[in-house]
Amino acid sequence: MATEKLQFQAETKRLLDLVVNSIYTNKEIFLRELISNASDALDKLRIESLTNKELAGDAEPEIFVVPDVTTKTVTISDNGIGMTRDEVISNIGTIAKSGTKDFLDKLREASNASAQELIGQFGVGFYSAFIVAEKVELITRRAGETSAVKWTSDGAGEYELEDCEKDSRGTTIILHLKPEFCGDDEYNFTDVYELERLIKKYSDFVRYPVKMNFEVKGENEKPPSLEIRTVNSMKPLWTRNKSEITREEYDEFFKHQMHEWEPPQEIFHVKAEGTVEYTALLCIPKRAAQNLYYSDYEAGLQLYSRHVFIMDKCKDFLPDWLRFMKGLVDSPDLPLNISREVLQQSVEVKVIGKALEKNILKQLGKLLKDERARYETFWREFGKSLKIGVYNSMFDTKAKDALKDLLLFQTSRDGKFSTLAEYVERMPESQKQIYVAAGSDAAAIERLPQMELLRERGLEVIYLTDPVDEFTIEALHEYAEKHFQSITREDFELDDAESQKVKAEVEEIAKTQGDLLKDVKDAIGDAVAEVRLTSRLKSSAVCLATGANSPSLTMEKTFAAMNNPMFKATQILELNPNHAVFKKLEALHADKDSPEFKNLCNTLYSLALLIEGVLPKDPVDLANKVTELLAK
Ligand code: ADP
Repeated sequence: MATEKLQFQAETKRLLDLVVNSIYTNKEIFLRELISNASDALDKLRIESLTNKELAGDAEPEIFVVPDVTTKTVTISDNGIGMTRDEVISNIGTIAKSGTKDFLDKLREASNASAQELIGQFGVGFYSAFIVAEKVELITRRAGETSAVKWTSDGAGEYELEDCEKDSRGTTIILHLKPEFCGDDEYNFTDVYELERLIKKYSDFVRYPVKMNFEVKGENEKPPSLEIRTVNSMKPLWTRNKSEITREEYDEFFKHQMHEWEPPQEIFHVKAEGTVEYTALLCIPKRAAQNLYYSDYEAGLQLYSRHVFIMDKCKDFLPDWLRFMKGLVDSPDLPLNISREVLQQSVEVKVIGKALEKNILKQLGKLLKDERARYETFWREFGKSLKIGVYNSMFDTKAKDALKDLLLFQTSRDGKFSTLAEYVERMPESQKQIYVAAGSDAAAIERLPQMELLRERGLEVIYLTDPVDEFTIEALHEYAEKHFQSITREDFELDDAESQKVKAEVEEIAKTQGDLLKDVKDAIGDAVAEVRLTSRLKSSAVCLATGANSPSLTMEKTFAAMNNPMFKATQILELNPNHAVFKKLEALHADKDSPEFKNLCNTLYSLALLIEGVLPKDPVDLANKVTELLAK
């Protein structure tokens, strides 16, 4: 096939622009990324050769890093799995991660400083080559194939593909360095010792030898000769003693091993020698992956047996809601050639998984207790996962029990995070239920007319601002034998004497207003299930309540926004009989068929919807009616 010019996918192009314009402050990381990819390619070859003996041949796996001062290049080559032409196109020309577009949009809106921060959490892998190179050539030959392909690009929108010759399998990447990285400035990536230092710093524990050529001075006036040396120690970090490992070493390890761009937030290094022997080195990343909650996010741990890599993304250890955990498990009790199917059935995997889950929950509990601020940082990133965990354990009381004390919610008290235990602790004696309210954010909930009375009584409300919150609360059902009660649900009432008194008064009024309420309902139609009087409003005229078994309006909105009208709230219009507008309603009711009465009913309903943040069906009609009223 002749030379082909291809375009990068639009998102890749935008990302490349960012890389080329070098928003990454740490220029050195390109080497770590390319060595990581090379090491992955060697892993893949090893796994494939388990079933296809001919693939590997006799060549020992190795990675070579060769700088060249004269050509101003650095070449990184591996004898791993390589890529076919099609693989090059799909792996190198596109970014498959969903969430990339969201990320780029966010980045566009971000200020300079926060853009730096955002970009820091987004790994660009292979493209990091363009941080230091003005042109990149990638020559690759898939193991088992005879043809090779060369990919060339300057990172500006296009790349070229052409067939070429390559003696053996694997991938060679030639970086044509930008002048500022050849020694004129602070960097010199053409210098052997500089690169050696970087490999030791970032890639010491890579499982395959990373080799370089070193010049050795000739003795007795002989010319200098070249000596090949392995630069990295190759010792797996997790086999070392915890006490001997520095935080920096852990950080670099996770960056290399898990393709993370920032040091992890929490680290779990566990060694166990019970019925099943294993070492696990896990982390909670600093940030949630952009696509963490998308279906294409590949969760799972790496699996090793006696320090030999077996497989990646092994999902059988941890429950799905712990998908944000990254890391590896190394166990001599698991055979080297275990398949994914066998793994699913493996008792050892179950034992290890259960122990790890317990350990993670225990450590999180400890963090919450001892280092609240750090826990809250974790919660902001991954709280959603724990809430999903509760929901997924709907029928598993034990699992729910393990999680319920790790949950945090904002409340009306001071907008800070509170555990359920802390909330219950603060409840006054007379309060029998845990009050919750759903809304798009704290401000929206604070504006709810129902909040006025609670505020006045000094009662605290838990805010449900994440769409998953309502499901979590539903799944929990109760906490410390106290049921959750939504303050916008029809069956909400306050237990104190004052509230009960007002309630009785309103019930008295309601007895005489049966016809009015029925006619208001008729004027509005089927949009509302019922119209009734309420004692829970103070200065507001109307509010919407939802039926006892109905999802909230917030949930209805969330699902409608996802084009999934699965959840429909049962709406109940509540009127405040002590409000002036109610008197007006009564007066107009004298002629219940008059347009004035009907208009008022529908305007009140539209206003109740607006209060809930729901746009009425006909906003123009509402606007007209209100302006008419204003003009009167
Ligand atoms: P990531 O490594 O996070 O998947 P990269 O952009 O670094 O993202 O690489 C994209 C893909 O290109 C890899 O997943 C791999 O399939 C392929 N690739 C990159 N480098 C090599 C290599 N040296 N050998 C074989 N395949 C590679």
